[in-house]
Formats: sequence, C-alpha cells, structure tokens
Amino acid sequence: MTPCIFCKIIKGELPCTKVYEDADVLAFLDIKPVNPGHTLVIPKRHYVSIHDMPDELVGKVAIVAKKVADAILRIGSKGVNIGMNNGEAAGQVVFHAHVHIMPRYGKDKFSLWVGKEYDGNERQVVAERIKAEL
Ligand code: 5GP
Ligand code: ZN
Repeated sequence: MTPCIFCKIIKGELPCTKVYEDADVLAFLDIKPVNPGHTLVIPKRHYVSIHDMPDELVGKVAIVAKKVADAILRIGSKGVNIGMNNGEAAGQVVFHAHVHIMPRYGKDKFSLWVGKEYDGNERQVVAERIKAEL
C-alpha cells in the first residue's frame, strides 16, 4: 500500500504549517496555495474521500472549515471558496479526504469552473435520478 502523505503529516513524520488541531481534525496550509492562507482541513483518521467518512465526522470537519474560513476573512481575504475534490475524475490527487479553504481577492486569476447548458429534458431527468438515490 502506498503510504499516505497526510497520515504522515498527522503522525508528525512529515512537516506541515499547522493552523488548527483538535482530537479529530487537523488544519494546515496547502504547500501550493492558490493564494496565501489556502488551508486544508482533514480528518485525523484516514478516509479516502467524503463518501466513506461517517456523517458525524463530516460535520466536525465542516465546522472547522467554517472556523478557518472565518479567520481567513478576518485577516483580509475578500471572499473564500470552500471545496473538496472527491475521486480522481474530480481532480483528487491526495487520497486522504480533505477540504480546501481558499482565500479569494476578486480578480486573482483563479477560476473554479465554467457552467454548461442543459440539453432538452436532461435537467429534469438528472434531478429525478438524484432524488431517487437520496
Ligand atoms: P487535491 O487535488 O487532492 O484536492 O489536492 C491536494 C492538495 O494537497 C494540493 O492542493 C497540494 O498542493 C496539497 N499537497 C500535496 N502534498 C502536500 C504536502 O506534502 N503538504 C501540504 N501542506 N500540502 C500538500
Ligand atoms: Zn491518510
């Protein structure tokens, strides 16, 4: 099994710039920030993505994500993107679940996505398929 880089950070085997820690959650600066202060919030236990995390832990990570986002605003960021890549197809590179907290300054040349148009009844069909799985 490939050793998990974020588990190594949690164990102190690799360095990180820590901004918050409690019994279940760690927050540290991303090594390649979209803007200074870009923070990763992770569960201390290894889960690959949000899909295998227990709901209670998702809640704990979300609460820390909000605390960090609030702090980032207080130090001068104009807005904050909170995002999570789940799965290789979604751009996940490190397979230990993590939430990105990204400070934003308006025209900072960072773009998250460009929306597409729906074709025909595709919107209704996809909504019904999602609802059936909830
Ligand atoms: P992903 O695409 O998986 O959502 O993003 C992984 C993030 O982890 C990237 O933004 C990358 O810069 C960050 N990262 C990768 N390795 C390290 C590391 O060793 N230390 C820190 N602090 N961040 C890392
Ligand atoms: Zn891990």
